Amino acid sequence: MKLKMKLTKTKPETHDTKTLTLESAERPDFKPGQFFIAEFTRPEKIPKRSYSASSSPTKKGVLEFTVKAVQGGIVSNLLNGAKPGEEFIVDGPYGHFFFDEKEMPQIVMLGAGSGIAPFRSICRYIIDKKLKTKATLVYCSRTLEDIICHDELIEFSKKMKGLKLVISLSREEREGYHFGRIDDAMVKGITAKNKGAFYFICGPPQMVSGTEGMLLANGIAKERIKSEKYG
Ligand SMILES: Cc1cc2nc3c(=O)[nH]c(=O)nc-3n(C[C@H](O)[C@H](O)[C@H](O)COP(=O)(O)OP(=O)(O)OC[C@H]3O[C@@H](n4cnc5c(N)ncnc54)[C@H](O)[C@@H]3O)c2cc1C
Repeated sequence: MKLKMKLTKTKPETHDTKTLTLESAERPDFKPGQFFIAEFTRPEKIPKRSYSASSSPTKKGVLEFTVKAVQGGIVSNLLNGAKPGEEFIVDGPYGHFFFDEKEMPQIVMLGAGSGIAPFRSICRYIIDKKLKTKATLVYCSRTLEDIICHDELIEFSKKMKGLKLVISLSREEREGYHFGRIDDAMVKGITAKNKGAFYFICGPPQMVSGTEGMLLANGIAKERIKSEKYG
């Protein structure tokens, strides 16, 4: 479904990431985790790009994207500089990367960088619907200042009784944070505690492929793994 939506708000999340709020009376319905293709309506030709909804489908009329400005990237930088009032064509929803509350009483979300976006949508949905989903969220960032929606992640762990939150930093050691990337030792620990869970992986292609390989090697069935590669 293609729809014109107006940018009504932009919110800086970190030094290079903003959340864009788009609104329209008949916002397309979607499942938490799905993505849309965003298109500028400016006269010049600008390529289209995919963005996961970071808002929950429970929030009517509103669609949010959380966009990290990629160095040298065309669209992500234009989106980060866009001003309220601009109109966009939004096409979607797309993808099989979504949370299904009936099928998935237990989930593990493994994200890096802007790959936090669909997990914001899933966590917000679980909170809004007061679901009892048992969830683990592992979020990997380079440094403390790169953590997208840091306060909101802490809020999730207070509002979601079943949530275990691990924030991991790959380039600095800080008290209270895991240090390093997702590795086999971490995957072993998580899979041992989440045998029947569904696994979601989202982020840069290398991170997604590497993590998926480790999950498979640790006995998680392919049918229980959903992955979304950005970039
Ligand atoms: C299904 C899907 C959902 C997505 N959801 C989101 C989202 O919610 N938030 C978000 O910020 N992005 C998301 N992306 C990535 C997004 O679609 C763009 O690829 C990204 O914004 C870069 O576009 P660009 O035009 O700025 O860069 P381009 O002009 O396409 O690329 C410029 C340079 O940056 C490199 N590059 C491109 N993308 C990345 C990247 N993600 N990380 C590092 N280097 C990169 C390229 O190799 C190239 O050298 C998603 C991608 C997919 C496939």
